[in-house]
Amino acid sequence: MSQPTFDSISLRTELLENLASLQYHNMTDIQAQSLPAIIQGRDVIAQGKTGSGKTAAFGLGLLNKLNVKKFRIQSLVLCPTRELAEQVAAELRKLARTIHNIKILTLCGGVPIGKQIDSLYHGAHIIVGTPGRIEDHLNRQTLDLSFVDTFVLDEADRMLEMGFQSAIDAVVEQIPTQRQTLLFSATFPEKIEAISASIMHQPIMVKVESNH
Ligand code: ADP
Ligand code: MG
Repeated sequence: MSQPTFDSISLRTELLENLASLQYHNMTDIQAQSLPAIIQGRDVIAQGKTGSGKTAAFGLGLLNKLNVKKFRIQSLVLCPTRELAEQVAAELRKLARTIHNIKILTLCGGVPIGKQIDSLYHGAHIIVGTPGRIEDHLNRQTLDLSFVDTFVLDEADRMLEMGFQSAIDAVVEQIPTQRQTLLFSATFPEKIEAISASIMHQPIMVKVESNH
């Protein structure tokens, strides 16, 4: 059976127009199962394999909610590595092509921090970064997360495997508790269960086996 189309959920017209131009017509399994709840503002834990379309699931959720006229950091996406953060930022920019003046910034280790501080000074709507570097900016007080209303943990299992638990805890502390938290992972070990219980509010769980 074919998947529902993006038109069947209440996404903003500019996003729907862009999805059509990108030839994204049908949602993947994980998108069909998680996007309606994400758009309603629920906390969601979604488990699915690589290539299942997780980026657009949280990306469309956060872009649908974003107010581009409010030039504040409204979404924070944490990823395990610089490479993955750059991939996520590229996909978000693609999904956001029709939202004019949107500013998406990556903050990862291995890049001179001074340049990042300059970029932060000029402002952003969305930050995609690795936990260590984000924590570093928080310690330096060069990053203000007090307007974040969507917090995403992408590849949460890998971030925990890499020892980012304490950095994640430090970052969560700086985000308002009145927020939407979305957690994406390929596997769901006990550590994830524990972190989700402590940082999420009545999450909906979605698990998808297929890649379509
Ligand atoms: P994951 O994070 O689950 O590994 P990605 O978000 O990187 O997967 O998506 C994998 C690929 O599928 C990307 O190239 C993305 O552009 C594409 N994609 C995602 N959703 C759709 C869709 N609904 N229709 C067509 N292509 C899609
Ligand atoms: Mg991914």
